[in-house]
Amino acid sequence: MYLGCHLSASAGFTNMVETALSIGADTFAFFTRNPRGSRAKEENPKDAQRAQELLEQRHFGPLVAHGAYTMNLCTADPEARAFAADVLLDDLRRMAALPGNFYNFHPGSHVGQGTEQGIDYISAALRRALEPDYPVTVLLETMAGKGSEVGGRFEELKLILEAVGSSKVGVCLDTCHVYDAGYDIVNDLDGVLGEFDRVIGLDRLKALHLNDSKNPFQSHKDRHECIGKGSLGMETFEAIVNHPALQGLPMILETPNELPGYAAEIAALRALEK
Ligand code: FE
Ligand code: FE
Ligand code: ZN
Repeated sequence: MYLGCHLSASAGFTNMVETALSIGADTFAFFTRNPRGSRAKEENPKDAQRAQELLEQRHFGPLVAHGAYTMNLCTADPEARAFAADVLLDDLRRMAALPGNFYNFHPGSHVGQGTEQGIDYISAALRRALEPDYPVTVLLETMAGKGSEVGGRFEELKLILEAVGSSKVGVCLDTCHVYDAGYDIVNDLDGVLGEFDRVIGLDRLKALHLNDSKNPFQSHKDRHECIGKGSLGMETFEAIVNHPALQGLPMILETPNELPGYAAEIAALRALEK
């Protein structure tokens, strides 16, 4: 397994690799642009190249970039939807600076138009964004099923994967989200991964977000807690880091921590590895 956390992208890629190394991480996540806005940073090819060299030298696993929360590919307003689709396309183009990594995003919220319509819009935007064939695999994040979120059920993600029909789309499983959505990874991790395999196929599972949850099972809330301090508990994470089906995947912490807290969680998770 590769372990890391969300890092600030404001000082560039090389800075993120160095920060990751300083906290014992061998992967990391970063927002491709302001997480709650749409502005992206100026590109710096020299920085990206230096980062790429360091990533190889220090044997990092794949990185898991994160699209902005505001990018809703299935929003109701056609102009806003077209804008979100453009943001996705531009994000994938930018990911080409660091080839071979993952780009994860929240599928979207259908805001009352219905799940089916949401899935249609999301799939259309993805087909268009994947057309130029940039060297990046796009990951749909499993969601908590809050409000009108698409992606709270494995079946919904499967429908998007089918409609896009590209091997360059996979899934990122967020442990807080799936538990809040009603997949009991605390009492039956094997059963949930078995269901994932039956519905989507485990070959499509490319990354994990490791978060404990502040809320009980099936709460549909999506509030992350530090590892071991929420309703999932340390034993669940011990089972996850040692599960044979999850070996070799990048696992990203999105817990409420600053860097020292992340370093401690990374060390604690590595200590659980058998
Ligand atoms: Fe996310
Ligand atoms: Fe997440
Ligand atoms: Zn979340």
